[in-house]
Amino acid sequence: MLQISTDWESLLFLHSKGKGLFATRNIHKGETIFVEKPVVSSQFLWNALYRYKACDHCLRALETAEENAQRLLGKSCRILPHPEQCSIRKDLHQHCPLCQVAYCSAECRQSAFEQYHQVLCLGPSREDPKHPLNKLQDAWRNIHYPPETSSIMLLARMVATVKQAKDKDWWIKLFSQFCSKTANEEEEIVHKLLGDKFKGQLELLRRLFTEALYEEHLSRWFTPEGFRSLFALVGTNGQGIGTSSLSQWVHACDALELPPHEREQLDAFIDQLYKDIEKETGEFLNCEGSGLYVLQSCCNHSCIPNAETSFPDNNFLLHLVALEEIKPGEEICISYLDCCQRERSRHSRHKILREHYLFTCSCPKCLAQADDANLTSEEEEELEGEGETDDAELEDEMTDV
Ligand SMILES: [Zn+2]
Ligand SMILES: [Zn+2]
Ligand SMILES: [Zn+2]
Repeated sequence: MLQISTDWESLLFLHSKGKGLFATRNIHKGETIFVEKPVVSSQFLWNALYRYKACDHCLRALETAEENAQRLLGKSCRILPHPEQCSIRKDLHQHCPLCQVAYCSAECRQSAFEQYHQVLCLGPSREDPKHPLNKLQDAWRNIHYPPETSSIMLLARMVATVKQAKDKDWWIKLFSQFCSKTANEEEEIVHKLLGDKFKGQLELLRRLFTEALYEEHLSRWFTPEGFRSLFALVGTNGQGIGTSSLSQWVHACDALELPPHEREQLDAFIDQLYKDIEKETGEFLNCEGSGLYVLQSCCNHSCIPNAETSFPDNNFLLHLVALEEIKPGEEICISYLDCCQRERSRHSRHKILREHYLFTCSCPKCLAQADDANLTSEEEEELEGEGETDDAELEDEMTDV
């Protein structure tokens, strides 16, 4: 299931500190530590509804860079130079013959079919609002508006995967590896995901979820407690995924060797393009979704991380790249905060981490700052009050490409 490019034997899990990922050899700055495929992933529902066309399996963007730019600009007249730098291969695209969902390749169609799509294929009922799966998705969209951080279909794919699997226990065990929380912590996470009326909404979703997907083997997941745990699991471990044909094209253009004059022209064109898109569409540039990653979810947070995740392949393959030299025995940490949040005071960082991830950071930076705290928390609160980050902003950052 895991696709790891480097020798994954060289990574060792230690469970003494809860979960953690530790290097067992020297890792160099800039090195890709591993490339990982999610066990399940899913595009966000509003994102898909708003025609951000992505492969239903790997989230690869399906529009050409030019189509992508034209849709985001709301007009079809803008022509992109260097069309050969667009990586989208329409000749390889495929559809499910029964329900017509789109895939970037025959491989993705096959993988989806083998893992979960037989259970989730709507066949001719794709547009039928009375189909239980459509009712479920509709209810989810009405509860969870953009900016999106999760999708009920991630849970549906987990159930469908177990339903289709020959070795059901293997999958159940795999899903159970993702960290578990206490009942109180689960409540907090679900509250965060579904808002103030979360109890009623969770119950509504559970009813629709059961109607659409009930499975004997997984009866626990369909009980009120089990369903809440499933939600909390996805809420804490779901990693945002963002893909974009346009940004892929821009990266390829950046790498072109051009005479200075042409380079200048191209850079100016791209700058103007992004300005125009921002005016028209705002911040929603990417195909967005989320996924569950076994290795990545083992990485603890640090406010001075030595590694970071990215999606350079324009699909769900997560690359973990070293930001500095890492010695054997050292823990590999990523940051759950974006770079602006990392620059903020210890107090502000702790507030965000506490609210979203339910832990108190004790990384070297936080420990060092614990001693030189001259400001009381109230004073600091006041000072920082204006710059307080919205949840929406934090969550949106998490899905940046
Ligand atoms: Zn694909
Ligand atoms: Zn289908
Ligand atoms: Zn810290």
